[in-house]
Amino acid sequence: MNVVELIEHKRDGGKLSADEVRWLIAGFTADTVPDYQMAALLMAILLKGLDGEELASWTDAMLHSGDVLDFSHVAAPKVDKHSTGGVGDKVSIPLAPIVAACGVAVPMMSGRGLGHTGGTLDKLESIPGFRTALDPAEFTRLLARTGLVLAGQSDRLVPADRRIYALRDVTGTVPSIPLIASSIMSKKLAEGLDALVLDVKVGSGAFMKDIARSRELARTMVGIGASYGTPVSALITDMSQPLGAAVGNANEIAESVEVLRGGGPSDLVEITYRFGVEMLLMAGVAGDRAAARVQMQRAVSDGRAFAKLEEVVVAQGGDPAVLHDTSLLASAPEETVVTAARGGVVTRCDALDLGVAAVRLGAGRATKEEQIDPGVGFTVCAKVGDEVAPGDPLVRIRWREQRRLAEAMPLVERALVIGDGPATPPPLVHEEVR
Ligand code: URA
Repeated sequence: MNVVELIEHKRDGGKLSADEVRWLIAGFTADTVPDYQMAALLMAILLKGLDGEELASWTDAMLHSGDVLDFSHVAAPKVDKHSTGGVGDKVSIPLAPIVAACGVAVPMMSGRGLGHTGGTLDKLESIPGFRTALDPAEFTRLLARTGLVLAGQSDRLVPADRRIYALRDVTGTVPSIPLIASSIMSKKLAEGLDALVLDVKVGSGAFMKDIARSRELARTMVGIGASYGTPVSALITDMSQPLGAAVGNANEIAESVEVLRGGGPSDLVEITYRFGVEMLLMAGVAGDRAAARVQMQRAVSDGRAFAKLEEVVVAQGGDPAVLHDTSLLASAPEETVVTAARGGVVTRCDALDLGVAAVRLGAGRATKEEQIDPGVGFTVCAKVGDEVAPGDPLVRIRWREQRRLAEAMPLVERALVIGDGPATPPPLVHEEVR
C-alpha cells in the first residue's frame, strides 16, 4: 500500500477499506507513516468524512493499536464519563470521586487540552506530583484498590489516539464527527466498561456549534457503543458560555474541590449531579433518579467524595495538601480585572473567545511541544442573565507574561457583552440521546 495514494483517494472522496485503515493506523503507531502524512489524511477525513464501515474500521484499528484493559477482576460495575470538550469543563474531576464513593468503579481515561478546550489531564497535573501516565498493570491494580483511576493513555493504551489527538490539536483537524467519535470511543472501549455516559457539548465553545451536529456526534458514539455491546447514553449540554467560574488548570482543580466540599457554582454542581445520576442508574446502584441524587449528596456531605479524590491523588503520587488548602496550587503572580463599562444585563459570555484567550495566556497549547502554565487563567464573575453595575468585575485574569496578556485581552473584552436585558441563560442540558 502507498500512503500518498490513500491520502489522495480520501481527498477525492473515495472510501478506505478496513485493511487500508488498519495499515495506516498501524504504520502511524509504528512511526512508518510520518506526522505530515497522517496530518494530510486527517484533513482529508475532516473534509470528506468517513462512512459507517470506515468509521467502524478506524475506531477498531485505534482501539487495538495497543493494550486493551481487562477489569473483570473488579466486582463493582465499571462506568465512565467522557466529554467532547469545553471551556471551564472540569465536570469529570468532582464527578468521578462522587460516583466512585457511591460504589461505582470509574476507570477514567482522559485527554489533554485540545484546541481552545481544556483537558482533564492538564488540570490534574497542576496537582504537584500527580502522575497521569500509568501503565496498564498499575491502572488495573489501582482500580481494584480505590475504585477510581484518573489517567491518560500510557504509551501502550490506545497509542494511535494519543498521537493522532496531539496532531489534530495543532493541524486544525479537531472538529470532525468521525475523528472525535473514534477518538473518544476507542479510548473508552479499551477500558472494558459496563456502561459509558457522554457529555456532548454544543455552542460556540464546543467543537460542534449547532444542535444538529452535536446530535449527530452523540448518535454516532452511541451507535459505536452499541456495535461493541456497551450501553452508552449522551447528554447534549450547553457550551455557549464557560461552565462554572474558573477557566484554566490549577484554578479548575480548586473549583472542583469546592464542589466536593458541597459548594461551587450552581451550573457546575447541577451538571455534575446530572451526569452522576446517569452513571449511578447505568451502573444499577440506584433505583431511580431521586435515589441517585440523594446517594451523591450524602457522599459529598459526609466527606466520602472528597476523601475518594484524596485517596486517588495519593495513590497516583500527588500532594494531597493542595486539596486541603487550594491556595497552595499554582497561581500566576499578576491579576488584571476586566470590569463592566456600564450597568445592565450580561447578554453574551462567549466560551470560544474565553477559551482561545486562555490558550493565549498559556493555559493551553499552540504547538504540540508547548508546556502549559497551570497558574494562568480566568475567573468569570458574570454570566448570561446576570445584572451588573458599572465597575463590577466581569473577568479576573491571572497572568504571567505581559505579551501573552496583550494577546488575550481583546478576546476577553469582546467575550462579555452587556445590554439592557433581559437575557435568559441557556439551558444546561439541551437533549438526551440513548
Ligand atoms: N475528546 C477526545 O477524547 N477526543 C476528541 O477528538 C475530542 C474530545
